[in-house]
Amino acid sequence: MIDYSLKTLGAMLASQQLSSRELCQTWLARIAELNPRINAFITVDADKTLAEADCADQMRDAGQAGPLTGVPVAHKDIFCTEGWLTSCGSKMLHNFIAPYDAHVIQRFKAAGMPSLGKTNMDEFAMGSSNETSYFGAVKNPWNPDYVPGGSSGGAAACVAARMAPAATGTDTGGSIRQPAALCGITGLKPTYGLVSRFGMIAFASSLDQAGPMAKSAEDCALLLNVMTGFDPNDSTSLEREKEDYSRDLEQPLAGLRIGLPREFFAEGLNTEVAAAVETAIAELTKLGATPVEVSLANSKLAIPVYYVLAPAEASSNLSRFDGVRYGYRAPEYTDLNDMYSKTRAQGFGDEVKRRILIGAYVLSHGYYDAYYLQAQKIRRLIANDFTEAFKSCDVILGPTAPGTAFKLGEKADDPVSMYLNDLYTIPANLAGLPGMSLPCGFDGKGLPIGLQLVGNYFAEAKMLNVAHQYQRATDWHSRAPEGI
Ligand code: GLN
Repeated sequence: MIDYSLKTLGAMLASQQLSSRELCQTWLARIAELNPRINAFITVDADKTLAEADCADQMRDAGQAGPLTGVPVAHKDIFCTEGWLTSCGSKMLHNFIAPYDAHVIQRFKAAGMPSLGKTNMDEFAMGSSNETSYFGAVKNPWNPDYVPGGSSGGAAACVAARMAPAATGTDTGGSIRQPAALCGITGLKPTYGLVSRFGMIAFASSLDQAGPMAKSAEDCALLLNVMTGFDPNDSTSLEREKEDYSRDLEQPLAGLRIGLPREFFAEGLNTEVAAAVETAIAELTKLGATPVEVSLANSKLAIPVYYVLAPAEASSNLSRFDGVRYGYRAPEYTDLNDMYSKTRAQGFGDEVKRRILIGAYVLSHGYYDAYYLQAQKIRRLIANDFTEAFKSCDVILGPTAPGTAFKLGEKADDPVSMYLNDLYTIPANLAGLPGMSLPCGFDGKGLPIGLQLVGNYFAEAKMLNVAHQYQRATDWHSRAPEGI
């Protein structure tokens, strides 16, 4: 059962072959068995999960079930979840019980999908390896000596280890796609504004976007149907007609033009990753697609631009954690200012502090024009490159990350080499475009390789179509780590 698709699980529940309670018990048992090894979850609460499962079973009895009612999901610990610890991977919120549900959580509850718990993540979603979590690093289920990627590392690891049928993640610079790639699962970051950010703890508000992480493109399509929708509580939420993201899954790929950005196949790309991506291109060509070369010339500036803009926004967003209203407060202090500084000095980890310092610096008087404004201009150029590229192709394809998973601790002391992991994912965030990662092979060490697709604005259904057709022709996505 742990390998079943969401569609199959939904059908089993619909035909009353099993109840949501039974289904949740199976997954909770997997979590109890594997979490001590993988550390994918920060919080598990079987009673709460089973109470939600009973609600789902009642919905079905009342004739109110949807296609996924009763199927459980795991939520990244960045989403406020009423009555659950919502820590964002930080000591700063290690005692914060959310008083309300994020919009994403509300949507899953309305669909009758119980929560299996809250997944581990890099502190405040800052990181690419899940090593900055206050709750300890997550282990890659393919090899526990390696990182699962980040910041949604717990989400990716729990799906790969079959501790949950699916999970939610968030992606500011690659945090859905890069861990999906490193753990051999499928993950999708939607067009900016499609999923509400209400109740999702903010990192860099102009880049943050939540999305699904699951075993396949088909699963992601069904989850996206649940997650998207206008929300008046998020001023950047888009008012659009409801779409069925699974509608084009079965379309043939004949005539599809796949754009290959030459900059994504240049220096710095691991040769095994390059070879797997080339093989995937050949596979898609066999399915009727035509590769075309495109250029994203300014994408080489994406990392420096991101490391001005994201910290700038983070320094502002994280100013709310001051020990006054909620979360951690230093136990001893002399006056208000001392309380602020001790609370923040003790509550935040090193990476978060580094970002706050960079952000405060680039926004400060005299540097704002030189850094922040300049970065905004280059952000526009990066987005323009995509607009130009989409004139000659329907979807852009490349590697998700320059390499496969690296060893725990290997890059922990070298922030720049850590940042370079997001070389190919950040451009889509800067442009607000949808992107996804799907498994396309393994390296010599048996670690998964990720293939990235980037679509035009609102072209999620197209990307999912390409990914699904590829997954029908290959079986990389259905492989699971051995001994787990
Ligand atoms: N790894 C990137 C960072 O550290 C992206 C994180 C994310 O997408 N949340 O900022």
